[in-house]
Amino acid sequence: MNQSPIENGVLVLADSGAIEAILPNADGLMDVEVYEGYLAPGFVNSHCHLELSHLQNQLTKHTGIVDFILSLQTKRNNFSEEQIADAAMQADLQMQAEGIAAVGDISNNLSSLWVKKQSPIYYHTFFEVLGFNPANVSQIMANALAMQNTAKAINSSIVPHAPYSVSKPLMQAIAALAQTQPLTIHNQESAAENIFMQNATGNFTRLYESFGIDISHFDAGFDSALAAYIDIFKSQKIALVHNTFMAPSDIALAKQSGNDLYYVICANANLFIENKMPDIPLFQAEGLTLCIGTDSLASNASLSVLDEIRTIQAAFPAIAIESLLEWATLNGAAFLGLSEQLGAFHLGTKPGVNLISKDLKSLRVIAAASTQKNYI
Ligand SMILES: [Zn+2]
Repeated sequence: MNQSPIENGVLVLADSGAIEAILPNADGLMDVEVYEGYLAPGFVNSHCHLELSHLQNQLTKHTGIVDFILSLQTKRNNFSEEQIADAAMQADLQMQAEGIAAVGDISNNLSSLWVKKQSPIYYHTFFEVLGFNPANVSQIMANALAMQNTAKAINSSIVPHAPYSVSKPLMQAIAALAQTQPLTIHNQESAAENIFMQNATGNFTRLYESFGIDISHFDAGFDSALAAYIDIFKSQKIALVHNTFMAPSDIALAKQSGNDLYYVICANANLFIENKMPDIPLFQAEGLTLCIGTDSLASNASLSVLDEIRTIQAAFPAIAIESLLEWATLNGAAFLGLSEQLGAFHLGTKPGVNLISKDLKSLRVIAAASTQKNYI
């Protein structure tokens, strides 16, 4: 991913999975295994919610985000702890089989923590906070910090859920933590979210009515959902997730914010919930740093980066496979601060090796990735 592809090249691996050499051909070598397809480093799934894995096949497609959230909040607690834990474990195993080496994973609670701790996958946990009532800021922040402390996850951060679910004082409190690790936020996943942040009307008012949340304090009038928060953060590494309803004016605003921004595409989830794809060719033309995420099994049939690549390619056949693989490896590793360990075949590292068939239909893990420890 950090150099041009080598046709009939040779990757020399140590028994440990460490990259020993990359050679232009097999001249003079013995014991060379020959594979047909692309050899790529292990994938990085830049956006997932492992703790929602039990909601696979529980929610209806194409309802739009408001009814998706309403349904999700009703159903997520209708399962036993055992069912939730078992589904998270199966989902982790599926990601291993799909050649995923690292995951940026959202957590609202600690139910999936034990799965992440025992998994060979590298997890960065985003402890996600929500709260639209400005009165609750100190309590919400205390809870999030306590959760982070309990988890003892070295690689974790406290992050806002979305512009419409986090009050301005809460957003400011998160920004004030001045975290050195990456942050993330669900950005412009629906048209309704922009309308709500512009003039406090539309479908989201129904969401707050259903939850019995008073929004009379809310001062709308922002140009867009992005405009409501992006300047609260300064020089921060942030992944904007979804961006399905992000206008060219929002891209300009994001670029001006001075933050180190990554744009995560969760194509299958966007099709599931809003039945719309983000304008990926526009993002490419704008030179944005793109990554790939699966979102959760609540809005996806699989946790497979390769499935996401296939969906993007079906919608935009002109996008080169090299670009898609770069988003799925190199860029995701850079987002999670793992460029030294994952996302490319750097000598001496163990980024994992995936064999991807040329038609992109299947994948085989040739070598598993190995990274430094995640937890204390
Ligand atoms: Zn999400």
